[in-house]
Amino acid sequence: LATPRHPDFKLPGCDRIDGRSSAITAAFLKAITPVVHPTAAEVDEALQLLGMVRGRCRCAYCGDACTEWDHLRPVVVGRLPSGYITEIANLVPSCGKCNQSKGNSHWRTWMLGPAARSPATRHVPDLALRVDRLAAYERWREPIRVDVAAVVGSDLWTRYTTMLDQAVRYLVESQQLAAELRSLTQAAASGTRSAGATFQA
Ligand SMILES: [Zn+2]
Repeated sequence: LATPRHPDFKLPGCDRIDGRSSAITAAFLKAITPVVHPTAAEVDEALQLLGMVRGRCRCAYCGDACTEWDHLRPVVVGRLPSGYITEIANLVPSCGKCNQSKGNSHWRTWMLGPAARSPATRHVPDLALRVDRLAAYERWREPIRVDVAAVVGSDLWTRYTTMLDQAVRYLVESQQLAAELRSLTQAAASGTRSAGATFQA
């Protein structure tokens, strides 16, 4: 399909249903990730390690305004739990741009790599200093790790991963039907322009 290009125009996203598969997988694994709430003193210490003070928290990766805390080491690796959890030794302040761009990559590879909107790609100032601080942060404490499959036992783990597989398969099947439906709506839309309105309320 030839698409006319115009500098001011951007087509809204036409998402595929199965394009949500990795988000669903992440949701399944994050839903069982344990959480250890930090004390205020621990958050202060974390900020200090990253060269910040209370009330002036910025994204540790790029220095933009902080909007969330991101898992420094990914919680999900290759559709499986990495074992790292939600706790202060594994969380750093982040902006939404960095959090989304980083995904499940290793923080250093991503920061210095060519990913869209990575700090290197965005030519973030003080990049080496930021990397050094995050490396120090990584050495700060031994991160808690939980062997999820071992802790819950093989019966529950198999039930849960089967459920996840079913959810993903359902998305794929739904997308196949969606493609069929779209070819019909697309044909109707093309017919409308040339042969007059066909929609009847
Ligand atoms: Zn950022």
